[in-house]
Amino acid sequence: MPELPEVEVIRRGLAPRLVGRRFLTVMSGDKRLRQASSPQELARWLPGRRLERLTRRGKYLVFALEGGVTLLIHLGMTGRLLMGVPPGHGPHVHVFFTLEDGLTLAFQDVRRFGRILVFPPGTPIFPLEQVGREPFSRRVTPEWLAEVARGRSRPLKNFLLDGRILAGIGNIYACEIMFAAGLHPAIPAGVLSLSDWARVLQETRRILRRAIRRGGTTVNDYLNSHGETGLFQVELMVYGREEEVCKQCGKTIKRLVQAGRSTFFCPRCQPKKRHFR
Ligand SMILES: [Zn+2]
Repeated sequence: MPELPEVEVIRRGLAPRLVGRRFLTVMSGDKRLRQASSPQELARWLPGRRLERLTRRGKYLVFALEGGVTLLIHLGMTGRLLMGVPPGHGPHVHVFFTLEDGLTLAFQDVRRFGRILVFPPGTPIFPLEQVGREPFSRRVTPEWLAEVARGRSRPLKNFLLDGRILAGIGNIYACEIMFAAGLHPAIPAGVLSLSDWARVLQETRRILRRAIRRGGTTVNDYLNSHGETGLFQVELMVYGREEEVCKQCGKTIKRLVQAGRSTFFCPRCQPKKRHFR
């Protein structure tokens, strides 16, 4: 599932080629996505409009078009945005755009958990209202994290995965952040100290930045807008490494299930005892 770094890599790949160009046509397939505007709505609001900005909020790509129209795309589990796919071809293409200068953009999604929504001028972009703070924002500080976590007994892992608090962190990066910060994934978020939060925040930013620089992580299907895989997977310390050796201490990486998702961790580098008496 694409997380913040993968979506940011896609944004950086698309923006230089799409911003300033006009959408010409949009064609929608007949299979349902998790959430999508109707083919009629897409065809009403997109063609003829120039793309003014392409930004990211959490895991959403935000296409700001002239006249105040917004196109929102969420890649879900297996979504891809690929340039240069020939019209009408390519399996699992659900929406296909043509732009000025012969450019094409295909939204391909095998499992169809993606979302593609258009918002006419002046309408609230409700999915973005649910998105928490950006990890790189100055409004995210150790003090703020400690304040939000105060009194909460839910595990640190689930706290990090909650996109209404910190935006864009999914299973892969949550595991890597907790390993780097030396914190056990089951620690209740409310018991972390200010210095624990400072370390969590520092490692969050370091890991996300590094992953963006490496083109994201490809564990299943992720490809950037050029159809290339990421490289950060070779730097993963714990994610997907159950029963393998910890690269830092040599002990065996373990897996536990939290809220239905696998968590990978090193029992020695992320000891439980400091927080559980
Ligand atoms: Zn270890």
